[in-house]
Amino acid sequence: MTNQAPYRGSCLCGAVTYEVDRLEPHMAQCHCIMCRKFHGAARSTFGEAKLENFRWTSGEGLLESYVATNGTTRRFCRTCGSSMTFAPSSGGEGLVEFSLGTLDTDIAERPDAHVFMDFRANWDDVDDDLPKFTEGRDSNPWE
Ligand SMILES: [Zn+2]
Ligand SMILES: [Zn+2]
Repeated sequence: MTNQAPYRGSCLCGAVTYEVDRLEPHMAQCHCIMCRKFHGAARSTFGEAKLENFRWTSGEGLLESYVATNGTTRRFCRTCGSSMTFAPSSGGEGLVEFSLGTLDTDIAERPDAHVFMDFRANWDDVDDDLPKFTEGRDSNPWE
């Protein structure tokens, strides 16, 4: 019998590690410019967990914060630069949004939407059947 959480993740250098007991349903692929820059990739995918279901298991002190001009906060590993978490400027209390790409375990859940489609990289073709929004989830559908 083990006490390991079902989901575990880490940064590239391995110093920062975390565990997640349970994921919340929202899991958007975000195409906004800031996610693209933060990840150095076409899009980000953040998973959400309640604070009580998420814990750093090592290296929390190595996390650096970047607060963007719109007040959002992104944290990354000081040593290897891995993109670890996102926090909105307001709201989102009680939740952690973490980069799904840093998971070391498989998950059963899947992304449920594309957001900020108006900002996507023109080489990033999106051809799945998920709901797509021009900006956030409360914005107009993207056609
Ligand atoms: Zn690291
Ligand atoms: Zn984004």
